[in-house]
Amino acid sequence: MITNSINAYEEAKQVIPGGVDSPVRAFKGVGGTPVFIDRGEGAYLYDIDGNKYVDFVQSWGPLIFGHADKDIENAVIQTAKKGLSFGAPTVLETELANEIVEMFDGIDKVRFVSSGTEAVMSAIRLARGVTGRNDIVKFIGCYHGHSDSLLVSAGSGLATFGTPSSPGVPADLTKHTLLCEYNNIENLRRCFNDSKDIACVIIEPIAGNMGLVPASREFLAEIRKLCDENGALFIFDEVMSGFRASLTGACGVVDVKPDIITFGKVIGAGMPVGAFASSKEIMAQLSPDGPIYQAGTLSGNPVAMAAGIASLRKLKANSKEIYEDLSKKAKYLVDGLKTEATKANIPLQVDTRGSMFGFFFCAEVPTNFAEVGKCDFARFAKFHQEMLQEGYYFACSQYEAGFMCTAITYEDIDSCIEAAARVFIKL
Ligand SMILES: *Cc1c(COP(=O)(O)O)cnc(C)c1O
Repeated sequence: MITNSINAYEEAKQVIPGGVDSPVRAFKGVGGTPVFIDRGEGAYLYDIDGNKYVDFVQSWGPLIFGHADKDIENAVIQTAKKGLSFGAPTVLETELANEIVEMFDGIDKVRFVSSGTEAVMSAIRLARGVTGRNDIVKFIGCYHGHSDSLLVSAGSGLATFGTPSSPGVPADLTKHTLLCEYNNIENLRRCFNDSKDIACVIIEPIAGNMGLVPASREFLAEIRKLCDENGALFIFDEVMSGFRASLTGACGVVDVKPDIITFGKVIGAGMPVGAFASSKEIMAQLSPDGPIYQAGTLSGNPVAMAAGIASLRKLKANSKEIYEDLSKKAKYLVDGLKTEATKANIPLQVDTRGSMFGFFFCAEVPTNFAEVGKCDFARFAKFHQEMLQEGYYFACSQYEAGFMCTAITYEDIDSCIEAAARVFIKL
């Protein structure tokens, strides 16, 4: 029974486009009505009809400790009592920046913003400003937020000038965005041959926005080489993989060093925070030290910083145990799903990186966006609908990764696998 959600959705649609403030929430990929959430508690979500779900979305990644974690909640409440925003510096910003620079070689300074979109948009401006060049390279299927120059999808135009993937984005604003295929180094080499104006290459080193599709280590190492040979900067967009794939995100997994890293999601623990970070030389170009402008009224918001600090310190205090536990649970879940799918003669490809997991209804492991496109989307939609009814909240699109949090137990996962076994038989 989701009567209250159905009514709430109708009411929302009257005053909010599509009834949602971010399109993927509308369940377009899977059909049905999105459930409206009343509250979260640890591993669980409760909707406004009183249904309970095990949550494998965790706000699309930010909540690594699950919902309403007491330490983060207390930090937020104590800080909020002192005022919500000042538009003046607080020591909390320095504290969170210190937590981050301590973790990464070659990262000396951090600038905080309010979303992942803003972090990436600003990182691109920084790369262009520092190199004095205009072109940027992005990979098909990677998502870097909804700013104009990054809202370019694939089509068939490999290594050609990007065409905008949304009305409202003038082609003039995306003509400097060059597209390459993920995990295809020849493609990128051609791109560097074609343009001598490449400021940076940006990548999701562990892509989570075409389902979970990790870049190979060799691919990333080759990009690093090409960037160095051509005087371009290399940006890791770790808005999703940061503090998720490992404590140091993809950086901790692949052993390739980017010039600029962007953060979001986990860094704010559920509050709106993004950040971009780099060496002191590169960051010296940023205003007010340098000429490259970037600003924000609510940037470094104290309540959001407090949530980030509480979350990162809690992760760091026990990082080995936490990431081992998260990785094991994520693997246990997808291995269980795979076993049950195989029993029901359903081809399923599964993978994990730390607390990120993915599964695809297809016969071969996809390594790029075009291959993900060959998955059985109708089967995924049915799986999603049925699992929701069984009380398991998975991301509502085959193009999204799943997220494990510390609050999810093996009991939750075992019962999820049992439910999936019942569902697979019906697919
Ligand atoms: C979510 C995401 C973004 C955008 O972040 P928002 O906070 O939604 O603006 C950018 N890059 C990646 C890799 C993401 O996963």
